[in-house]
Amino acid sequence: MSDQRDTKDAVLKSMRLRCPKCGEGHLFSGYLKVAPSCDSCGLDFTPQRADDGPAYIVILLVCHFVGVALHFLYRPFLDNPLMLAVILSGGAIALCLVLLPPVKGMVIAVQWARGMHGFGARRV
Ligand SMILES: [Zn+2]
Repeated sequence: MSDQRDTKDAVLKSMRLRCPKCGEGHLFSGYLKVAPSCDSCGLDFTPQRADDGPAYIVILLVCHFVGVALHFLYRPFLDNPLMLAVILSGGAIALCLVLLPPVKGMVIAVQWARGMHGFGARRV
C-alpha cells in the first residue's frame, strides 16, 4: 500500500510532543490538551481518541517502577515506613506527570499512523 505511514517515526516525533506527520508543529496546546491542528503542516488532530489509554499505560509503567523500587528500599527504610511511603508516592506522582504527555502523544501517533478513527478517512 502506497499510503502507509511509518508508525515508529510518528511515535518518536509525538513522544517529543510534536506532530506525528511533520515533527515540527506542537501536538498539545496545554499540558494534556491536544491542539486542534498542527501549526506547521495543518494536520487535523480532532479525530484522535486517546481517551483514558495513556493514563492506563502510565499507571502500568509507574506501578512496575514503584514495585521494583519497593523491593530495594524496603530493608533500608524498615524502621521508617512513613518516609518510604513519602518517597515512593512522591516519585510515583512525579513520574506520572512526566510520562503522561509523551505517552498520550504516542497513542495519538499510533492512531494517526494506523489510520484509526477519523485519521483514516482524511489523509491530510
Ligand atoms: Zn504537522
